[in-house]
Parts: sequence; structure tokens; C-alpha cells
Amino acid sequence: MIFLKKLVALVTAVLLLITGCSAGAKTSSKYSKYTYEFLGAFDTMIQFMGYAENEKQFEDMSRKGQTRFEELHKLYDIYNTYEGINNVKTINDNAGIKPVEVKQELIDVILFSKDWYKKTGSKINIALGPVLSIWHDYREKGKENPAEAKLPDLEILKRAALKTDLDKVAIDTAKRTVFLSEAGMRLDLGAVAKGYATELVAKELMKAGYTSFIINSGGNVRVVGAPRDGTRSKWGIGIQDPNTSTGIHSDTNLETVFMTDASLVTSGDYQRYYEVNGQRIHHIIDPVTLMPPYYYRSVTIMTKDSGVADFIDTAAFILPYEQSRALIESIEGIDALWVMPDGSIRVTDNMKKMLKNLGGASSK
Ligand code: ADP
Ligand code: MG
Repeated sequence: MIFLKKLVALVTAVLLLITGCSAGAKTSSKYSKYTYEFLGAFDTMIQFMGYAENEKQFEDMSRKGQTRFEELHKLYDIYNTYEGINNVKTINDNAGIKPVEVKQELIDVILFSKDWYKKTGSKINIALGPVLSIWHDYREKGKENPAEAKLPDLEILKRAALKTDLDKVAIDTAKRTVFLSEAGMRLDLGAVAKGYATELVAKELMKAGYTSFIINSGGNVRVVGAPRDGTRSKWGIGIQDPNTSTGIHSDTNLETVFMTDASLVTSGDYQRYYEVNGQRIHHIIDPVTLMPPYYYRSVTIMTKDSGVADFIDTAAFILPYEQSRALIESIEGIDALWVMPDGSIRVTDNMKKMLKNLGGASSK
């Protein structure tokens, strides 16, 4: 991620024409395929891909999306303060002091997370900040100086866990305020913010009339409509192979999912981690053990809403297989693919039908 932050200074956005349809000559489509990518929001590369009548049309859409991602990033940021904006850091800085008035999009994501907390076995707690920030510090130090990398002391984590009661996150919807009622409390929206923002941006672009595009925010993929190349009716989205992924781009895909109007979100042990004595210590923490769980290499969720997908994906990653599968099967319209520690793959029935290798699916 540090690597990405440095790059931001050099590259802000890139727009590319992928294929001119006149060059293809096989289809009658009047649309061409473009991609546009930028760095700087949600600590990752965000990419728009899709079909448009011309470059300007696609660039207008992408710039609109970029602006919104940048605004939402600032709002959901826990590390930085921005002039004139009350964000998650402002809320955290005022824990035990006073309620903070924030924009509706911040109230909404907190209410959303409180709601889904109860429905998903209480594993994803956005008030786990005090515990997650200790892990964050050990991870950053461990990456900087691998020889000295170590695990945080369990007693320190347990003390931090005393300040993670989600019921003490008080929301006044009329006044649009958030109050962490105890000093030392701290929100962390990492499990849900990127997917939630992706869904907001996708909905806003649809409302603005765009009907055929993909948003890929660092592995959090939302597809809208179908590809407009005159031949395909579904987008093919790759699921990264945890063994060959570099964390940014995958060299090879494990599977391809053919889909329209849905989200595909993956949580994995390879996305953000450090190593202690040769063991990979990743960034998803079980709120009961206060340690990273190792039931899977990755879990991928497919469902319509990208915010729901992101939230549930992280929850499914923390639960052991029987419970994880029961959770997915208990919610309407959600499918999953689990990559087990030995590399074997488990899937829900509907997911299987949409997979290229396991299900024989195609883009037609
Ligand atoms: P990403 O897609 O950015 O890799 P994930 O959706 O997999 O992120 O969520 C991981 C992030 O969620 C962590 O970096 C941390 O900020 C946060 N997190 C980790 N464990 C929990 C938890 N049990 N409850 C709430 N948030 C968590
Ligand atoms: Mg998530």
C-alpha cells in the first residue's frame, strides 16, 4: 500500500481505449471498450471498464465516479483529517467527549453495519477499532523491519477489546450525529467501506444513465448491465488464485465467474499481511480470539449489492466452514466460493453454474 501511495503522486488517472470496434469488424456494435484507472482512494487502484459510444462519454462517467470515490474515501478515513470535513477520524477523536455531526453517507454506512452485525453472527464489528489499530501498528512495523516482526501481546489486545461495544456507538438520525460514548473507542470501517462506496458510486452512475460498466475497486467488483460488444451477454470476472496473487494484480485466475448486474467480492489472507516466524499474519481479526483465523485462503461472495457483499465476505472468512456456509445459505440471493487451506474449492450450487471451469459457464 505504501507503494501505491507513492505512485499516486506520479499517476492520477489513466484512460485507455481497449478495442476499437471498427478494428474488430466482427460485430455490429457501435460501442467501444474503455478502461480508466486511478489511485488514491481506499488505498487501492480503482478501475472503471465498460462500453461507450466514444471516449468522452466514458471519461465523463469515470471522472464522476472518481470524484465520488475520493469524497467517500475522505469521509470513511480513520487516519487523516481533512479541512471542512467531519469524518470517521473526527468521530474517533471525540470518543467520550461529544457527538459529531456528519454527512448522511457516514450515518448510513454505520446504520448498515449495525444492522448486518446482528444478521451475520456478530463477527464484523465496526467498533473493533481499538483492537484493529494494535494489529495495524504491529503489521506496519513488521513489514518495515521483518527481523523484528512479532505478534501483539494477548493481554494488550484483551484490554483494547473492552472498548469495542457496538451498542455504545450512539446515532442521532434527526441531528445526524455519531457519538462514541466511551473514551478510547474507535470505529474502523475497513471491512465494509470500500464495497459500500462502490455500491453508492455504481447506483449514482446508473441514475446518471450509464448502463454498461464494471467498477473494480481493488478486487471488489461491481458489474452493471451487460458488455456491449454485440456478442457477449455476461461479463467474465476473474477470482484470484491466492497462491499467485501479488495483492494488486493476479498472474493467473483460479476461476472466472460470468455475471450481470451483481457484485463479486473477495477477502483473502494474501491481501494485507506481515510475517512472523514464517507464518502469514493477515488483516482480518476474529473478535472472539482477537487473532486472525485460518479457515480459508480466500472467500468470494457474489450478490447484487457490493456493500452487502463486502460486509458478509469478511464475516464468512472469520466463521468456520459449516457456520460460514450456513450463514450464506440463510440469506436470500447470496452465493459463495471458499478456497480452503489445501487449495480445494467449495461452492454454493448457484455459484457453480456461473463458473467457467467448475460449471462450464460461458459469456453467451
Ligand atoms: P479488503 O477488501 O480491503 O482487503 P476486507 O473486506 O477483507 O478488506 O476487510 C478487512 C479489513 O476489515 C481490515 O483491514 C480491518 O480494517 C477490518 N476488520 C478486520 N477484522 C474485522 C472484524 N472482525 N470486524 C470489523 N472489521 C474488521
Ligand atoms: Mg469486507
